[in-house]
Amino acid sequence: MKSAIITGITGQDGSYLANYLIKKKIKVFGILRRTSADPLERLEYFGIKDKIKFINSDLSEHQKITTIIKKIKPTYFFNLGAQSFVTFSYDNPIYTDNINNVSVINILESIKNFSNKTKFYQASSSEMYGLNESNEKKLNEKTHFNPISPYSIAKLSAYYYTRMYRNSYNIFASNGILFNHESPLRGQQFVTKKIISNLVRIKFNIQKTPLVLGNIYSRRDWGHAEDYVEMMYKILNYKTPDDFVISSEKQYSIKEFINMVCDKINLKIFWSGEGMQEKANIKNGKTIIKVSKKFFRPSDVIYLLGDSSKARKYLNWKAKKTISYLVSDMINYELNKIKINVKNKKM
Ligand code: NAP
Repeated sequence: MKSAIITGITGQDGSYLANYLIKKKIKVFGILRRTSADPLERLEYFGIKDKIKFINSDLSEHQKITTIIKKIKPTYFFNLGAQSFVTFSYDNPIYTDNINNVSVINILESIKNFSNKTKFYQASSSEMYGLNESNEKKLNEKTHFNPISPYSIAKLSAYYYTRMYRNSYNIFASNGILFNHESPLRGQQFVTKKIISNLVRIKFNIQKTPLVLGNIYSRRDWGHAEDYVEMMYKILNYKTPDDFVISSEKQYSIKEFINMVCDKINLKIFWSGEGMQEKANIKNGKTIIKVSKKFFRPSDVIYLLGDSSKARKYLNWKAKKTISYLVSDMINYELNKIKINVKNKKM
């Protein structure tokens, strides 16, 4: 039976990927770190909690991770675990580098020494392009990287280590350079989730305070996590190890995303002002969206648009879910949560 170790199994992508692999009858081992809260909520959403063999470890426990790899010798190792929040990485650069980079070297070293048939997937990120100065409209595998955050610098180092182990030691090690992908299971601090959960609560009068955001003119290329985890699997089943950009190839600003959400929930808003004074009001004059310096990154990647023609050509892949489907999927999840909460009188 094929087996897979997933780090970051409790996260958005980890839970979608575990669900995908279990359907393919692959035995899934999940690396789980101890937290005070219940981290298995997303896996319960798919009803797959009991189908996964959990192993307690933090990515920083190098010896333990090595022992796990040595013992299981998995067919696949999907490294999705990371300190994944870019803004947080500015305040915690050393921690971010330890988890997002040094831990990856440890995994690759362990695969090389104890399980050299294991196929390794590294969750690389479009944030590695950073401030792209090449004037290329769409970013692909050949575009120059120019990372600007501790998160993306650590991810870029791990990206190069992955290539190094592939080229120097013949390990099947591949990078998926994934552009932003969202879902109902996206972490609460990420902008799409924050926008949708706040606006739904404002619409139904559950929330009285405005939604406060940073740069609403940043542009992103957003896909659906369910589509993207399928790609992770395809990347490790390609004939050779390689690196692939995975993106929707469409781009919207955060403000455009907000307008899409408002349209779908039938919340009429009126934008006014500029810069830090920009805001959105509803008909009665109440401000429901504000901009604050607090949510600006020290330096921001303002433009991300991917070119996934290589994945389309060699992996026969195309994003199936549109941005409109993604927004509806996320809204429905929030609406359902409110219904459940109202029923249980938790509001
Ligand atoms: P996520 O929801 O934030 O999940 C991150 C996962 O990593 C969680 O399971 C978390 O565990 C785990 N983790 C964090 N620190 C750890 C540690 N020290 N030891 C063990 N596990 C640890 O992120 P995601 O959206 O699923 O993203 C998956 C991967 O893809 C990440 O590497 C991310 O950087 C990368 N990526 C994501 C996107 C995107 O748009 N989503 C785009 C490009 C690349 P806890 O539950 O215990 O916190």
